[in-house]
Amino acid sequence: DGFFFDTVILGAGAAGMMCAAHAASRGGRVMLIDHAKAAGEKIRISGGGRCNFTNLNTAPRNFLSNNPHFCKSALKRYTQADFIALVERYKIAYHEKTLGQLFCDGSSKQIVEMLLEEMRRNAVELRLSTRISAVDHEGDAFRLVLEHEGREMGVRCANLVIATGGKSIPKMGATGFGYQLAEKFGLAVLETRAALVPLTFGTDFLERYRPLAGVAVDARISCGKTTFEEAMLFTHRGLSGPSILQISSYWRETTPIRIDMLPSTDVFRQLKARKQSEPKKAVATILGDIVPKRLGNLLCDEHALNRPIGETGDKALQKLADAVHRWEVKPVGTEGYRTAEVTLGGVGTNGLDSRTMEAKTVPGLYFIGEVVDVTGWLGGYNFQWAWSSGWAAGNAIASK
Ligand code: FAD
Repeated sequence: DGFFFDTVILGAGAAGMMCAAHAASRGGRVMLIDHAKAAGEKIRISGGGRCNFTNLNTAPRNFLSNNPHFCKSALKRYTQADFIALVERYKIAYHEKTLGQLFCDGSSKQIVEMLLEEMRRNAVELRLSTRISAVDHEGDAFRLVLEHEGREMGVRCANLVIATGGKSIPKMGATGFGYQLAEKFGLAVLETRAALVPLTFGTDFLERYRPLAGVAVDARISCGKTTFEEAMLFTHRGLSGPSILQISSYWRETTPIRIDMLPSTDVFRQLKARKQSEPKKAVATILGDIVPKRLGNLLCDEHALNRPIGETGDKALQKLADAVHRWEVKPVGTEGYRTAEVTLGGVGTNGLDSRTMEAKTVPGLYFIGEVVDVTGWLGGYNFQWAWSSGWAAGNAIASK
């Protein structure tokens, strides 16, 4: 019944497109399916429209997983340098923004176009606006029922690749479909959780820090043994900015987060020096030269420091400096999948072969990209995982 393909890939996102081009590179018939109207929508909106497509410093330490070794093989066999070479082959101009993060100079659409072209060159059949109504295993083959514009179509294939991504941004078509399929085929799925996501706080916190909405600082943020040094932003919903998104992947309910809002400076020493040189100035005025003005004012208000610095004791200045360097906050939650960039957890890596991404107990079934329990830091690492794992499966399939 229906059509036969060597390989069917579910999910035309970053990992699925990469895998499709490679799976088809030695003549195998490959079909790539997505329920969305366009392929690579998350690539298109990523990095503020410029796609932070990889990171120069990508290494296994930049990934969270129940098995931190799992990502090593794929990352080593298809590296950031390999993807950069592809981008250069397509003459897509790019630049390093910060911390090894590579962005397109022009538009993230160039990355989507590049992957579409790679698929066309290898004759991948792309089916968009197509729903997957059923997936079954029959002998050596998989049988799928697809639905497009109200019409059903049966497809059989020897290899089935699941690249349906995580749960973040349901508005853009994210579903838990990949996790359900994994469970259907007997694979373990580790608890999922929104990550790279702003943290939210109780009403006390929000009321107190509302005047700071929009203030940004270069912070050092720690949770447990993990520390990030990147920008932090006060918002009217709580805290955000790169360092908060990073730490959100490590934060768990009830865990406090430690924040140094000015790690590059010893605030107490500066206050002491200014106390000597400008004793008549208000503490808030001086602190406002060291940290953002609104933050300086709020901290002085909180500590009831409204006198000239010459009349303010060192103990009080030390407390004020501690408020900058040793702020401890207790988030109540995260903004959740609505705004999360990625999903932690997912298909358990113990069930997969790290060289090929093939399920150990179901030959021919593969899981790649974000649906797998491998989650990168902010900074291009998640796309690199999509490229590397997509390549690993595509290459394994083409080599069969
Ligand atoms: P996706 O790219 O999410 O693709 C999954 C595909 O599967 C989608 O096309 C979806 O429509 C399809 N699908 C899902 N369910 C079904 C179903 N039931 N039937 C059919 N199709 C289905 N990472 C970076 O490295 N750099 C960045 O700059 C960056 N910016 C980001 C910005 C935002 C706003 C977001 C949300 C994420 C960002 N990320 C970034 C993370 C990155 O986009 C993902 O990690 C990456 O896209 C995962 O690739 P994937 O192929 O596994 O999944």
